[in-house]
Amino acid sequence: MMNILLVDDQEIDRELIKHTLFSSGKNIEITEASNAHEGISNVENTQFDVILMDYQMPKMNGIEMLVALKQKQTIKNAAIIMMSHNTSEDIMLECIDAGAQDFLLKEEVTSSQLLRSIRQSRKRFELEAKLSSSYLQVKDLAEHDQLTGLYNRYHFEDTLSALLVNSRALKGHVVVMLMDLDNFKHINDSFGHAVGDKLLIQLAHRVKSHFRESKLFARLGGDEFGFIFTGVKKIEQTFIIANRILSNLELPFQIDGHTIYCSGSIGMSINSAKSDNIEELIKYADIAMYQAKTLGRNQACLFENNMELDFYRAYKIEGELREAIKKQDFVMHYQPIYQSNDHRLIGFEALIRWPEGPTTQNPEEFIPIAEQSRLIEPLGRWILEETIEQIAKWNRALDTNLSLAINLSPLQIHDQNLMLFIKELLEKHQVNPANIILEITETALLSDHDTHLEALKTLTSFGCGLALDDFGTGYSSIAHLLNFPIDIVKFDKTLIDGASCNSKSAFVLQGLTEMLQNMEIITVAEGVETVEQVEMCEKIKIDRLQGYYLSRPMPVAQCEQLLLIDKKTILRVIN
Ligand code: C2E
Ligand code: CA
Ligand code: CA
Repeated sequence: MMNILLVDDQEIDRELIKHTLFSSGKNIEITEASNAHEGISNVENTQFDVILMDYQMPKMNGIEMLVALKQKQTIKNAAIIMMSHNTSEDIMLECIDAGAQDFLLKEEVTSSQLLRSIRQSRKRFELEAKLSSSYLQVKDLAEHDQLTGLYNRYHFEDTLSALLVNSRALKGHVVVMLMDLDNFKHINDSFGHAVGDKLLIQLAHRVKSHFRESKLFARLGGDEFGFIFTGVKKIEQTFIIANRILSNLELPFQIDGHTIYCSGSIGMSINSAKSDNIEELIKYADIAMYQAKTLGRNQACLFENNMELDFYRAYKIEGELREAIKKQDFVMHYQPIYQSNDHRLIGFEALIRWPEGPTTQNPEEFIPIAEQSRLIEPLGRWILEETIEQIAKWNRALDTNLSLAINLSPLQIHDQNLMLFIKELLEKHQVNPANIILEITETALLSDHDTHLEALKTLTSFGCGLALDDFGTGYSSIAHLLNFPIDIVKFDKTLIDGASCNSKSAFVLQGLTEMLQNMEIITVAEGVETVEQVEMCEKIKIDRLQGYYLSRPMPVAQCEQLLLIDKKTILRVIN
């Protein structure tokens, strides 16, 4: 049996249609409504197979009724046929557009035509329903990230551009936040990709459940996530939100029996009259994220105009570094380090130089960029190879026992394979491990305590020395001295500068020196530039001295001259 709803304000028309339908002899039940409102309430109460509706009705015409039904989502399984006394192509198309399956002229309605139309409309309706469900599936696939179920980059950008187009109508600003995980590669490397994937899923779930006010939370790819917030009225709000996101990551994740810590860096940009297009906002948030990483990770930065210049400079230098590593454009210089009581040369610190660096030659500028871009990994290996071979040559040719200090970046300590690499180099060049001192800064000790301790213990187990560099600039933490196997502490230049002109600081330095010596830690004064500083260091018994007053960092040939004078012998071969 077919259940039909007939909506028409004219009784005579209804009678005509009813007559036509019944004369077909089909099993049909007809419900009548004399206006659109009545029709709608019928639809709400009963399921119909077909709705026949008049286009011209007072108060609410056929199309308006159709739209109202669609909005209420009440017509689930009904095919709709619109009827009218007169027609224009425009009205017909409008009806079909609004969701009717067919359009008939009342004058031409015959029983067979009406039945055919009903049959075809049902067919068309079923087809449309099928299409729409597969369309929804495709839409879902296209808009979502399959791993985490979050929205993907496509939908993120789509939504953002829609918001920006309507931004004038929105109260407050649109804020774009990009978040990159700080140590995801490391997690993937140490625990495997399956664990990495689970981390992303857990993280997405955790953050999502805390950020219902976010307009959108998406995974943009890899370990990068995006947020869109609207209605932001004050800059401080952005930081409050970003810090809440970051504090969400503070608790460790439990995955397959591992306890995993993970932090993120967030870059933010805000729309304004000057920057209101999607490309700019995403680019700016990206630049700010880069800044957050450079500033030490696990923090949020908001884009500021001068960042763009810094960013492009860093970007340029990164490209140049990549080339320079391929072409081996770097050279190592060596700065002598002296014993303070007898002024004996005891060794060198290796310092990298980039003579042809097109944008910068300053290691304080390019080393952080190399760290940021992970280029420090290949570069660091080259430095180790070059310098360990060099000290081996000198000690062998001169029959000396000089030590060599090599700077290690925080990132390098993460690298398990690097420890083995150092061991191989020591063996290959037959260097006494005690002559190799690895200099690390306190920032390298801050996160991931256990992993670092393991790595540093491995190094000292080979017999290498460990120096804490730049002491006095950062944390200067006693706990670090107690917890890590540190043999040497290098007082930063600022500490030495401060002490020479201020007696209180000199007392602090003296106290520190005594304390460290009691802990059997060797002290080194860095950046010694004047004779007064040399005298002060000697007076408070700092063990070793390094600085321009004694010698600048020098290329290999100049070091060899110095070594020859130092030996007061003539060297047979240095090769
Ligand atoms: P650092 O490890 O603290 O190195 C000491 C810096 O102080 C060197 O700067 C050195 O040339 C400079 N210096 C030494 N004596 C004096 C002095 O009396 N006065 C003044 N004003 N400066 C003095 P440089 O070579 O420019 O290196 C800067 C930083 O770049 C280093 O600081 C280190 O953090 C990094 N770096 C340099 N070479 C390497 C390397 O081979 N590997 C790594 N990872 N980092 C390096
Ligand atoms: Ca150093
Ligand atoms: Ca230093």
